[in-house]
Amino acid sequence: MIPVTKPFLPPRAEYERYLDGIWNRNWLTNHGPLVNDLELKLKKYLGIDHLLYLANGTLGLQIAIKALELKGEVITTPFSYVATSSSLVWEGCQPVFVDIDPSTFNIDPSKIEAAITDNTTGIMATHVFGNPCEIERIEAIARKHNLKLIYDAAHGFGVTYNSKPLVEYGDISVLSFHATKLYHTVEGGAVVTKQPELLKRMAYLRNFGHEGTEAFNGVGINGKNSEFHAAMGLCNLKYIDGILERYKANYHYYLNWLSKSPELTFQKIHEGALYNYAYFPVLFESENTLKKVKAELEKHQIFPRRYFYPSLDTLEYIREQEVPIARNISSRILCLPMSFHYAEEELEMVCRIVLRTLKFSV
Ligand SMILES: *Cc1c(COP(=O)(O)O)cnc(C)c1O
Repeated sequence: MIPVTKPFLPPRAEYERYLDGIWNRNWLTNHGPLVNDLELKLKKYLGIDHLLYLANGTLGLQIAIKALELKGEVITTPFSYVATSSSLVWEGCQPVFVDIDPSTFNIDPSKIEAAITDNTTGIMATHVFGNPCEIERIEAIARKHNLKLIYDAAHGFGVTYNSKPLVEYGDISVLSFHATKLYHTVEGGAVVTKQPELLKRMAYLRNFGHEGTEAFNGVGINGKNSEFHAAMGLCNLKYIDGILERYKANYHYYLNWLSKSPELTFQKIHEGALYNYAYFPVLFESENTLKKVKAELEKHQIFPRRYFYPSLDTLEYIREQEVPIARNISSRILCLPMSFHYAEEELEMVCRIVLRTLKFSV
């Protein structure tokens, strides 16, 4: 079976060495030494000053929204994972969708200003599949209209933009370390900011608002992650270079094979990016073709995923809005299997079936 991804796992003995330490210390969670060490190593690896390790990326989005005191309307993208929109609704904000660029799949900055009203307090944009947004243009709009800016950078681990870490942009960027992501800690996530005041506020938010054991600084939630998850993160971080290399090789393998077909198009990656090759989305000419290819792959125990389908404007808890490009892209896009564990053997099978189904002889 070839699922859309198979998580990387480190050699078991390396994880067990961390378990020995956890058993010795009997310190399981609440900002233990492994969480601390992981935060330091992630900051060093990503080249950033501030990061808070969290239980998952969705809590990161929620904590970011709370820390920036977003309310009313927040401009966002309909082409993302459901957490981007649902976390806004969860925090009492109204997502206002701006349509996407059909070649980058990211929010289209030329359409943002038309969506701003007196009730707009922020912008939450996703770097879709790790592909950087039009950052300068979005930042200029945010500055001009005095809006807060959050990037959902769940896919952006290790990406740089204009030679700087992608997660440094915006007021806050949010990473996910879920098992399906390129770099994972089983469950996990992080918030990144360059602003020390915001960092402090988010640290309170992460830990119930605790100010020591007997006092509180505002309302908070439990966003902490455990020593066991941090141990997985520390193990996996040692292998990140090899993981990134494999994803890059797989991406180019797919691209070489599949660009033989005139019926397929691929995501346009930003020129200023040093990309992480985290996903391989293919865009078909029609939803019908996509369904045929998907069914054929599934017959062979290959399970790609329709990231992201349906378009988030179709969620029943969100007011209906017109985003024809997102609807259209969402209906025709399929992410092919990508994993550290996949090599040419698996990818060749995927490519052959895709091309054969498209009736393109190879
Ligand atoms: C995975 C993902 C999230 C949520 O992250 P979790 O760690 O699973 O909570 C949010 N946004 C996007 C775009 C994602 O892909």
